[in-house]
Amino acid sequence: MSQYRTFTAADAVEYAQRFGGLRDASSLVTAEEIGDGNLNLVFKIFDRDGISRVVVKQALPWVRCVGESWPLTLERARLEAETLTEHYRHCPQHTVKVLHYDAELAVMVMEDLSSYRIWRGELVQGRHYPQATRQLGEYLAQTLFHTSDFYLHPHEKKARVIRFTNPEMCEITEDLFFTDPYEDHPRNDYPAQLEAEVVELRNDERLRNEVAGLKHRFFSHAEAHLHGDIHSGSVFVADGSLKAIDAEFGYFGPVGFDVGTALGNLLLNYCALPGLLATREAADGREQRLQDIRTLWLTFAERFQALAAEKSRDRTLAWPDYTATWLKKVFADSIGYCGSELIRRTVGMAHVADLETIQDEAMRIECIRHAISLGKTLIVAAPHIDNIDTLIARIRQNG
Ligand code: ADP
Ligand code: MG
Ligand code: MG
Ligand code: MG
Repeated sequence: MSQYRTFTAADAVEYAQRFGGLRDASSLVTAEEIGDGNLNLVFKIFDRDGISRVVVKQALPWVRCVGESWPLTLERARLEAETLTEHYRHCPQHTVKVLHYDAELAVMVMEDLSSYRIWRGELVQGRHYPQATRQLGEYLAQTLFHTSDFYLHPHEKKARVIRFTNPEMCEITEDLFFTDPYEDHPRNDYPAQLEAEVVELRNDERLRNEVAGLKHRFFSHAEAHLHGDIHSGSVFVADGSLKAIDAEFGYFGPVGFDVGTALGNLLLNYCALPGLLATREAADGREQRLQDIRTLWLTFAERFQALAAEKSRDRTLAWPDYTATWLKKVFADSIGYCGSELIRRTVGMAHVADLETIQDEAMRIECIRHAISLGKTLIVAAPHIDNIDTLIARIRQNG
């Protein structure tokens, strides 16, 4: 009965009436498809008063922005719903609530966050949410700690690693993040004026060696249940509140990948600001982004350390110095993954609005050039940067 079919707006309304958990379900009357992502259908479901009450998200069997020529597993709907449900269990204040999902229809119903705004859009407009980075750090610490070997029983952990392998979505990351930008690949997409910089990436042996290490750890280090795609477009913000959405890339991977993706998107905005705002506002915004980077890392590390001291179930990992030793490795990984995010979002296929919306072409190209150069610097320097102040100094040095 629930055999897969692509939902129409009417299907989405009917589905939300049945599974949206609303007492006045029959008041839901219309749906609007609002998906702006690359992969899925997203419907807002409205009641008679025109108020949006729940959201229905359905995976399509292909990549939406490419078409039927790039098929993609519907399994990702299960992975997204179960990842968000797991993260909600550990951090309900910063995770969207999943109300229902159906694996065969590849559909889920979730709480409506229409009063929130996508963080990337706010960052592009120069609007600052002073609590957002502390909250994102808290989300990362809670979700990653409680799904790591510090906390999970080893049998439970191993069972989960199997349940969340997510090979097809990981392959997208493996290719787009770690392979394409360092090869002459047709999916790459960058301004012709930056050909020389891009060719340099392909010929830089030290860089390629570090990137190979980052990819290798992405393949093999099942440290915790990652969100897997925690860029500023997967984060909703409101005054004093933040919620993560869109976890279809969730799998057990290196903790530094999630932290680095989050840091990388703050840095993409840092690179773009001179093209987005007037000189004075851009300079202020950049200082805020550097503070954001500091707050994000310090919150994550301090909260993780506190959780480990308080709640670690493995006696050996709970040894007092071990968490700090391991967090140093996570820091180095995070800087490396942050650098690779800068490069894959500029040289690779998928871009970010921060840079793409810069109107002046010469300025846009300069900002992209900066992001590539900063990405490269961070990837190569990552193993040698041992604290947050040094990281911020390196970012400033790069321009
Ligand atoms: P994709 O996986 O295709 O990127 P997302 O989960 O990111 O899909 O959703 C796409 C867009 O739909 C988001 O950028 C946001 O504008 C909107 N959206 C997603 N979930 C919600 C929600 N719970 N409440 C309100 N809007 C949402
Ligand atoms: Mg998305
Ligand atoms: Mg483009
Ligand atoms: Mg998505």
